Amino acid sequence: MKKYLREEIKNLNAYEVINRDYRVKLDANEGVDWIGGLNRYPVDRSDKLREALAEKLDKSPDELVLGNGSSELIELMMKAYLEAGETVVSFSPSFSMYKIFTIIHKGKYEDYPLDGMERLNVDGFIDFVKEKKAKLVILGNPNNPTGTLIPREDILKIVRSVDAMVILDEAYIEFSNYPKGDDTREFENLVVLRTFSKARGLAGIRLGYMIANKETIGYINRVKSPYNVNVLTQEMGLKALENDSITSNNIEIIKRERERMKMFLEEKELKPLSSGANFLFFKAPKNIFDALWDKDILIRKFGGELEDYYRLTIGTPEENDIVIEAIEEVENARS
Ligand code: PMP
Repeated sequence: MKKYLREEIKNLNAYEVINRDYRVKLDANEGVDWIGGLNRYPVDRSDKLREALAEKLDKSPDELVLGNGSSELIELMMKAYLEAGETVVSFSPSFSMYKIFTIIHKGKYEDYPLDGMERLNVDGFIDFVKEKKAKLVILGNPNNPTGTLIPREDILKIVRSVDAMVILDEAYIEFSNYPKGDDTREFENLVVLRTFSKARGLAGIRLGYMIANKETIGYINRVKSPYNVNVLTQEMGLKALENDSITSNNIEIIKRERERMKMFLEEKELKPLSSGANFLFFKAPKNIFDALWDKDILIRKFGGELEDYYRLTIGTPEENDIVIEAIEEVENARS
C-alpha cells in the first residue's frame, strides 16, 4: 500500500531483468558453464515456480513474491515500509527474529503481552498499536513459540482497525485446522507470509512466499535483490508442488503425534499449550531439559521472562518415542 511506503521507495524503479529467448547470451557477465547450466543467473522472479504456486493458491502470479525463506520477506517489508525510528509491533512471546530484524532496519520494536502466553486481548492490542503509532504490525498465526491461534475475526478486526501494514505470518498454518488468512484482495494493508520450511519439510532450500495485492507486490519487487531465489531452490520448489500428497500425509502424521505428545506432557503435568503448529510449548523443571541434553536430545530453551519454558518440535513417531522415554526416566528417578 503506497500510503505507508518509505519516501525513497515511492520514486524508485524496480531492477528489471530482461528475460527472453537468445542465440548468444552475453548480457550478464556470467562465467563458463561446467556443471549443468549453473553458470546462468536464475530467472529473476522465479516465474515458473511463481506461476505454479499461484495456480495452487488460486491467485495471480503478480500477487506473489518468492524469497530466500520467509525470513527474507519479513526484511523486505521493513526495507519497503520502515523509516528509521518507526515502530514495529508484535506480541510477546513471538518469533525472536521480528525484534532482531526491526533493530537491524533501525526501527523500534514494541511488544504486547499475550494473556497467559496464549490469548490476545484484541482491543487492548489495537489500542497499543495506535498508541505506539506502529508502521508495521506482525501477527504470527500460529504463533511461535506458543503455537496458539488468534481467532479469524480478531485478525480481520486488527487489519481493519490499525493505521499500519499488517504482516500475517502463517509459517505454520498448514498444521492447524484454521482457514488461511489470505484476504489480500480485500485488505490493501495486509500481506501474508508462508514458507516451504515447515509443513513442506524443505527448510534446507530456503524458500518462502508473500501473498499481497498487486500494488504491494510491485513495491516489494523494488526492494528485493535480483535473483534472490537460486536455481536449485526454484527446481526443488516446483518438485515439492508436484508432491502435495507427501506433504499432506506428513501433516497428518505430525498432527496425530502432536496430540499424542500433548497428552503425554499433560499426564506429566507439564501443561503444554494447545498448538496449531508442529511444536508444543510447555513449562518444565530444568532437570528435564538437562536430562534430555545429556542424552543428546535437543529441545528449544528460552531465557529471560521465558526461563523454565520449552518448545519441543514434533518429530517422527520414533523420535517422539525417544523423547517420551527420556522424560519418563527422569520422572521415575524422581519418584
Ligand atoms: N516465521 C516464523 C513464525 C517462524 O517460526 C520462522 C522460522 N522459525 C520463520 C518465520 C522463518 O522461516 P523461514 O525463513 O525458514 O521461511
